[in-house]
Amino acid sequence: MTLRELKIEFQNTLKDVYPSEEVQSFFSILSEEYLGLTRIDIVLKADTLVSEEKTNRFLDAIEQLKKHRPIQYIIGNTEFYGLPFKVSEHVLIPRPETEELVDWIVNDIQKQDQIKILDIGTGSGCIGISLAHNLKKASISVLDVSEEAISVARENATQNNVSVKFLQEDILECQQLPEKYDVIVSNPPYVRISEKTEMKNNVLKHEPDLALFVENNDPLLFYEKIASLAQEYLKVGGSLYFEINEYLGNDMNQLLELKGFKGVILKKDMFGKERMIKCRKDG
Ligand code: GLN
Repeated sequence: MTLRELKIEFQNTLKDVYPSEEVQSFFSILSEEYLGLTRIDIVLKADTLVSEEKTNRFLDAIEQLKKHRPIQYIIGNTEFYGLPFKVSEHVLIPRPETEELVDWIVNDIQKQDQIKILDIGTGSGCIGISLAHNLKKASISVLDVSEEAISVARENATQNNVSVKFLQEDILECQQLPEKYDVIVSNPPYVRISEKTEMKNNVLKHEPDLALFVENNDPLLFYEKIASLAQEYLKVGGSLYFEINEYLGNDMNQLLELKGFKGVILKKDMFGKERMIKCRKDG
């Protein structure tokens, strides 16, 4: 069939499942991935014949999209902080809010500094690897409980040509870290089970629960544990950065002050939600 016919079939099948701009965007992403065509090519080359094999790939993608499988998992990759990242169902799809957290750290750190950074709960490796790419002199370690996530993060480090140390460990069970760091950063699970009602099916049905959810009655358990470790494993003057639940900014502020951290700063994301926090260890 021609590209034009394929596009019509694609739109007709998905029009009741997604808004039309989203369907359009899916078609562009898949055309680029499967056919190497840009957005403008789709218009200019509408009469091109699409082979049966390629058509079948689109039909298969349609079936997955109908089940709300995220497009990033379907094509197996995404972009984060200007870099390509592989993703699978074992890791969270990197979010734009997390790019803001990375940007905060990159801007805070003098690029020539030979500092040590640890990213806890790295998942795809998006935070640690984009820091490594932008802070060439820094030495970066990334930690995750999931063997599968570590393996995705390894591929991403290779693909982005950076050298990173990998630690496979359950942070909740962790008693000691291998060295002291200048910066510890984490985007741990922070969505309370009760907040599931606010979430869409693409996230709920396909992204890893392990990376997302915490019990309603103990939503800051990862932060508590990481802050305690940071008291011991941050160098004096070192900084701790977190991505946080938008509803728990005040609780996080209190928690960090109680643990003895100084200079706590809460920061809003591009949607105006309190999404990031940083603090310093003074002594
Ligand atoms: N921001 C993510 C979401 O809304 C959650 C990230 C996390 O739990 N660390 O799905």
